[in-house]
Amino acid sequence: MLWSRAFIPTLREDPADAEAVNHRLLVRGGFIRRLMAGSWSMLPLGMRVAKKIQDVIREEIDAIGGQEMLLPVVHPGEIWKKTGRWDDVEGILVKLKDRRDTDLLLAMTHEEIFTTVATELTSYRQLPQLWYHLQTKFRDEPRPKGGLLRVREFTMKDSYSFDIDPAGLDVQFQNHYRAYHRIFARLGMDAIAVHASSGWMGGKESVEFMVEAAAGEDEIAFCPACRYAANTEKATSVPAGVVDEPWTGPPERFPTPGIRTIAELTAVGGFASADRQIKTLVYLVGGTVTLLLLRGDHELMEQKVVDGLGTWEVRPARDDEITAALGAHAGSLGAVGVKGLRIVADPALRGRVNMVTGANDDDWHLRGVDVDRDVAVDTWLDIRLVRAGEGCPTCGKPLEVKRTIEVGHIFKLGTKFSEALGASVLDPDGEQRVIWMGSYGIGVGRNLATVVESSHDAKGIIWPMAIAPFEVVVTAVKVDDAASMGVAGEIHAALVASGVDTLFDDRDERPGVKFADAELIGIPYRVTVGPKGLADGVVEVVRRRDGAVERIAPAAVVAHLERLVKAERELGK
Ligand SMILES: [Zn+2]
Repeated sequence: MLWSRAFIPTLREDPADAEAVNHRLLVRGGFIRRLMAGSWSMLPLGMRVAKKIQDVIREEIDAIGGQEMLLPVVHPGEIWKKTGRWDDVEGILVKLKDRRDTDLLLAMTHEEIFTTVATELTSYRQLPQLWYHLQTKFRDEPRPKGGLLRVREFTMKDSYSFDIDPAGLDVQFQNHYRAYHRIFARLGMDAIAVHASSGWMGGKESVEFMVEAAAGEDEIAFCPACRYAANTEKATSVPAGVVDEPWTGPPERFPTPGIRTIAELTAVGGFASADRQIKTLVYLVGGTVTLLLLRGDHELMEQKVVDGLGTWEVRPARDDEITAALGAHAGSLGAVGVKGLRIVADPALRGRVNMVTGANDDDWHLRGVDVDRDVAVDTWLDIRLVRAGEGCPTCGKPLEVKRTIEVGHIFKLGTKFSEALGASVLDPDGEQRVIWMGSYGIGVGRNLATVVESSHDAKGIIWPMAIAPFEVVVTAVKVDDAASMGVAGEIHAALVASGVDTLFDDRDERPGVKFADAELIGIPYRVTVGPKGLADGVVEVVRRRDGAVERIAPAAVVAHLERLVKAERELGK
């Protein structure tokens, strides 16, 4: 490919609105352009990388028995109503109607439609099956951001497994677990597998693959001692205990004029440290007013409420709903003596005595609260956000909290979808058995972006060989020098003939501009051909990742690069 003929619209300046590294470098390097919020066009360079990522994914999923299909992007609403997700995932699910007023939706995922295909399976002899496709998804994200990290429209590889029993599902889940590790290794990334919330997929078990990155939107708790790892949506911990001072007798009211927060109660009032207070949050959970109680120094993890109480309808109560339920305003709320409201308490409050909490009377608090005695807890549920330094739930050593990007997610779905849509087979005894399913996703653009986030420097992107848009760029430094243009052209042609993806920078530009562009777009090797070097009988080979330079005879350079490129393509395999 001649650079002078290629569409590679590099920019001198960073885009003004770019925060994430991938946004900045992919736009500057001419890989992508934004159509609207969360919606990106892949230009030729971006598409070259995306296709290579898709090839890696295809090879690894084919290797565990995957069969590629292609299912539609527009789905009938009727099928999603049968599984309940038409209503459950309202918000990010885009619904529409056709000319006959039929309910349709844009695919945000494909469990329903793959399961519909699976209703054609009739016998246990046809199982196991593993099907996948690489297809567009659309999710109406409220806050698209981070370049290709959080978008509304994207290409995803999603595979679906079908088995006669849970043991078969376990095998396919493990196969994906290993295949995903191989995929991320081949993309040059070090992914950590973590326990995760299954969210709107339902099912019992799910594992996310996380790559550490400052631009990440997820946090994981990680134990360096025993390798426990979980998304903070689900992670548990053993917080340091608190020694309570004794208190006998009932709780006692005391005035706290103007005090509205835990911090004020600690600092201004000097009444009690945060870990000796009860934080009372009022939520609507599935339409029911619910008090969520936490230790004063702990934060709520809403996803744990969603998962633990089994409904997506979880939101903080409005001021009017709070006063209607408790007769006081936020800042003076408590659960002591409360009847008729659901009370959910975090286990870190269990057995605690002599605690301080709001009295449900503005400007009054209670002290001497014995949680087990004075609060009618309906449900003890871990609802707190794990913090760095708390004890690992497995080994007790201190946990770390890392910011990460989710690059893949695998789910044991069980029978939720096959039951709802009637996918079953006859077992050896002639009995109808509902099929056990798993679902396994990788976003192509998300992975492309994550590679950039984890592999770049001040000059631009550093692509691993396996997915570089071009593997070598041959740069002619003086295009009006016929001899060096001739040598550069021969090297380019020979590299292409030997199967190396090569770009020939034949543009009439200053060498500095050409070098900067090649570094920005991250091509792993550059061959520099100029009259000076040729006079010494050499061309230069520059390695992008560390700038290492080799001077080599033009006749030897093709074989040398072919060896380097082929060896680096295999890395991670
Ligand atoms: Zn541990």
